[in-house]
Amino acid sequence: MAAIARLHLPTSQIRITSCLFLYGSEANQRIGELIIEEINRLYNEPGATALVNGVNMQVLFDISYEVIAPSDALNMATSNESFYNNFIRIEAENHITRSFMGFGLGDNSGHWLTSDNLGTSTTAAHEFGHSLGLDHPANPDFRGSSSPPPIMAARGSFVDPQYQWNPLVKAGEYGGTMNPIHRRVSKEEIALIIEGLTFKETETYYIGYLSNNLFDRKGMVV
Ligand SMILES: [Zn+2]
Repeated sequence: MAAIARLHLPTSQIRITSCLFLYGSEANQRIGELIIEEINRLYNEPGATALVNGVNMQVLFDISYEVIAPSDALNMATSNESFYNNFIRIEAENHITRSFMGFGLGDNSGHWLTSDNLGTSTTAAHEFGHSLGLDHPANPDFRGSSSPPPIMAARGSFVDPQYQWNPLVKAGEYGGTMNPIHRRVSKEEIALIIEGLTFKETETYYIGYLSNNLFDRKGMVV
């Protein structure tokens, strides 16, 4: 996802905004509402702050969505130069059987699956993190941490029993890996997103990059 980060001094906020243009067979208002609610809730939940010129700024996420026809997506994407605009195809399945963002971290295009329970499973928030440049943590073992697994934890990660699919089995056994529903955005992950944004020379930064790729129903680039 590309996004725009703006420093808003009157309210001591860094506001991160973008719009997800949803298209495809399963794109509708209901799924859009669910996705956006999950993303905004999870990314605002930690109440992250960042120090800018000695002042503590609240980091606020205000992500929106719009459902558009595939033909409109094509028209828009062909000439898109705005980091605000992201193109996400919503389908029931694709050729790799999982939701994904485009090629490389920070891409403004993706192919997400309703079979991943978008908006209720943390998958949408996880893919959104990739789109802002976040990678999976290098160490996929979160056991012993006092907090829930981070939003960028990959499926198959090791976690404390209460965050497993089955809390009763040992880590690594069947059911002994992370149930993604327990993932939460951490302050550290927000810090990674805004790392390097000094706001010394400018009040506006552009996050990610614009491939403007669109996908067909099965998830192949068109
Ligand atoms: Zn991932």
